[in-house]
Amino acid sequence: MADKRDYYEVLGVDKSAGEKELKNAFRSLARKYHPDRSSEPDAEDKFKEIQEAYAVLSDDEKRQMYDRYGHNAPGGSPFGGFGGGSFNINLEDILGGDFFSSFFGVNSRRTRNRGNDIIIRYSVNLESVYQGTSEELTVELPTSCVDCNGSGAENGDIISCSNCGGQGKIRARQQVGPFVQDVIRDCPKCSGMGQLIKTKCKSCNGDGQQMEETKLRFNIPKGADDGTRLRMRGKGEPALRGRGENGDLFIELEVEQHDWFERSGADLIMSLPLPYEELVLGVTITLPHIDGTDLKIVIPKMTNSGETIEIRGKGLPRLRGSGRGDVVVLVKLQLPQKISKSQAKHLESNKPKYSDEELETRIKQDAKKRRQ
Ligand SMILES: [Zn+2]
Ligand SMILES: [Zn+2]
Repeated sequence: MADKRDYYEVLGVDKSAGEKELKNAFRSLARKYHPDRSSEPDAEDKFKEIQEAYAVLSDDEKRQMYDRYGHNAPGGSPFGGFGGGSFNINLEDILGGDFFSSFFGVNSRRTRNRGNDIIIRYSVNLESVYQGTSEELTVELPTSCVDCNGSGAENGDIISCSNCGGQGKIRARQQVGPFVQDVIRDCPKCSGMGQLIKTKCKSCNGDGQQMEETKLRFNIPKGADDGTRLRMRGKGEPALRGRGENGDLFIELEVEQHDWFERSGADLIMSLPLPYEELVLGVTITLPHIDGTDLKIVIPKMTNSGETIEIRGKGLPRLRGSGRGDVVVLVKLQLPQKISKSQAKHLESNKPKYSDEELETRIKQDAKKRRQ
């Protein structure tokens, strides 16, 4: 703990700061770094540091000790000396009720008033993405129980929760590192609902939900990508006890790999291994394309391995915007698996001769071409 920062520095106040100034500094820093709220990566450590500094400086006796001895107060650990390892700051008092109510408000909106979202992964091939297709899928989805309207109670047999007095919230003390703080939590007995089921609905056993076979119809948008999500509003899980709106259902598309095309946005990339003779003499190749037509690839004579040929407008439709991408063919030299002895002899005697300068020129030209 040798590198402990100065408490005044932590709170960003003068040595002469008064009670009000300390409180204001603490309030604004605590709001910034509260671990439940802050997105700063070191929020929890920062928050502890701020709390510690404030706990000491806001207590006259501890502050005097600190002013005199710094972090090395007599009697061992300064924090053993300064209050038995725990600081009791009433955060709600200092930060204001609205800090917590807005925080818990966000929380409860998510957990109480709205059902969970559901994600279904759905596999499509590149052909469907090219054309844009209509799909139909039958799945089991949770829906509100018809017999209890999602409440989970038989004939509306619900009682107020005795643990929280029907409030759904309880006040609890929470240990954060060496500190104790007051927090308001969802009542664990009623999950924040404020109510308990007295007699469970027989159809859903108190869940308020039942699984139902559902037919989903949706369209694959042209040019959809791997990970594209289609949203079906309100088709997700019903809210707890039927009190609130349903979550959403997302269909997340998984685009299957094509046998030879790879995707780069709307472009379709493929490599085409060809023998030496065809690269030298040129060749026209026809492949079945994903739109069902023939894809004609013209390789001009004297095409080098590594050159690309673009076939405009034969790629995928653009998901946003109009038109289609291109097919990009990367030409590669495919050497034979093996050659005979006489072929090897023939090659050896026909090996082209060139100087070091000629080689350098060739390398330079190739590099220049690559950069274009
Ligand atoms: Zn039911
Ligand atoms: Zn309760």
